Amino acid sequence: MKLVLIGAPAAGKGTQARKLIAKYGLAYISTGDMLREEVAKGSELGLKVKDIMSSGSLVSDELIIAIVKERIKADDCKNGFILDGFPRTVVQAEKLDELIGSIDKAIYINCPDEALLERITARETCPKCGASYNKISVPSKVPGICDVCGEHLTQRKDDTVEAGKARLATFHEQSEPLVAYYKKQGNLFEVDGMSGVDNVTNAIFAELGD
Ligand code: AMP
Repeated sequence: MKLVLIGAPAAGKGTQARKLIAKYGLAYISTGDMLREEVAKGSELGLKVKDIMSSGSLVSDELIIAIVKERIKADDCKNGFILDGFPRTVVQAEKLDELIGSIDKAIYINCPDEALLERITARETCPKCGASYNKISVPSKVPGICDVCGEHLTQRKDDTVEAGKARLATFHEQSEPLVAYYKKQGNLFEVDGMSGVDNVTNAIFAELGD
């Protein structure tokens, strides 16, 4: 199964991706995580994308397509994968279709901007295992500590009000057209991202089946 998760920042893509991986045994591909790793390593690629990422803009289609093209060749992708944060433009979606034929489902988690901005600034992530929390809606059991691995939680550099607003604007301008793109293909499943984490998961599972 080849899935794409679409949604503005903090819509819950990472959270749902983890549940989908656990149920369907798919590889998880988050282009944002891959780029953050490069930034943390201080690699040439990391240095190139660091400022673009912290401003809330997108890195070039060419660069990100090259990364995904390599990643989906890996062994763990043979049984299928979930793409989180890719494609983010129609050019990227067209290229993905060219690379893999077509996806099975694009899951669009829809949330209003006001709620997202609140979630963005309250978000905490685990730098070790990648688990995601929200001080308001999905807090860790012990404040500031990861439930899964016990690591101290951190805030992403682009999870500020200013960068958050820029990322929401980028989503509307460049990524929202993907909804129409996949609707036209007949592959879109839209779910209300305000209905609660478990309800979103159940709706997606019901759509994908066992
Ligand atoms: P994310 O963790 O998915 O919110 O991604 C964090 C940042 O990485 C984005 O704001 C972009 O700067 C960059 N990025 C991640 N995926 C893509 C993509 N598919 N196309 C362009 N830029 C991306």
